[in-house]
Amino acid sequence: MSQIALKGVTKSFGGVSVIHGVDLDIETGELVVFVGPSGCGKSTLLRLISGLDQPSAGAIEIDGRDVTRVSAADRGLAMVFQSYALYPHMTVRQNLSFGLENTRMAKAEVTGRVAEAARMLNIEPLLDRRPTQLSGGQRQRVAIGRAIVRNPTAFLLDEPLSNLDAELRVSMRAELAALHARLGTTMIYVTHDQIEAMTLASRIVVLRAGRVEQVARPLDLFNRPANLFVAGFIGAPS
Ligand code: ADP
Ligand code: MG
Repeated sequence: MSQIALKGVTKSFGGVSVIHGVDLDIETGELVVFVGPSGCGKSTLLRLISGLDQPSAGAIEIDGRDVTRVSAADRGLAMVFQSYALYPHMTVRQNLSFGLENTRMAKAEVTGRVAEAARMLNIEPLLDRRPTQLSGGQRQRVAIGRAIVRNPTAFLLDEPLSNLDAELRVSMRAELAALHARLGTTMIYVTHDQIEAMTLASRIVVLRAGRVEQVARPLDLFNRPANLFVAGFIGAPS
C-alpha cells in the first residue's frame, strides 16, 4: 500500500479544468519532485494533497484511508511555501512553537521539539530574533523548522527555494537533501527548475497542463523520456 495515493484527481476553478484525472502513488520515504512549466498545476496538486483545497472529482488516500474530505490539520502533513509565511510580530522561537501550542502537547515536549529543529537547521543563535532581522535563507530555514516540529508523515514543499539567490539555492538544496536523508520522511517537492528536480528527486513527476506526462527516476527520465515534451523540458537528447 502506498503512503499517498491520488486516484483520478480532477480540479476545476469556475468551470475551467486545471487538473485532469491525475493518478499517482507515493511510497513512504520517497523524495518525489513535481516539475513542469509555470501554470501546469503543480501548486494546485500540492494544495489538493495537503487538504488546503478539495478536488472536484477523484480521491486522495493516505495509508489506504480516503482523506478526500479530511481537513488539512487532520492529514498529518506539513506544507512549506515559497513565501515563508512567518509571523512578523513573533520571534523565531515563537514562530516555531506556535502551531504546537494549540495542541495538548506538554510544554516540555514543545520546547524539546523546537530545540531539536533549531539544532538540525543551525538556527539556534537566531531563536530570539524576529523575521525582519533574518536573511532570506534564514527565514526559509525557520519555515522548514516550523514544519519539522510538527513531526509530519510527509513534507509538502512548494518552490521553497525560488526566492533565494542562485548560490544560496544550491547550498539549501543540499541541506534539504541531507535533511531528507536524516529524517527519512516523505517529501513532495515542487519546482519549475529541471536541475533542481534532477539533483534532488528519487522520482520525478513531469506535469504539463494538468496532466502527468511521465513518472520516473531522474536517470531513467533523462535516458528514456516518454515524449518530446519531456525530452525538451528535461533537456535530454531526443
Ligand atoms: P503552477 O504551480 O504549476 O505554476 P498552479 O497550480 O498555480 O500552477 O495553476 C494551475 C492553473 O490553475 C493555472 O492556470 C492557474 O491560473 C489556475 N488556478 C490556480 N489556482 C486558481 C484559483 N484559485 N482560481 C482560479 N484559477 C486558478
Ligand atoms: Mg506554483
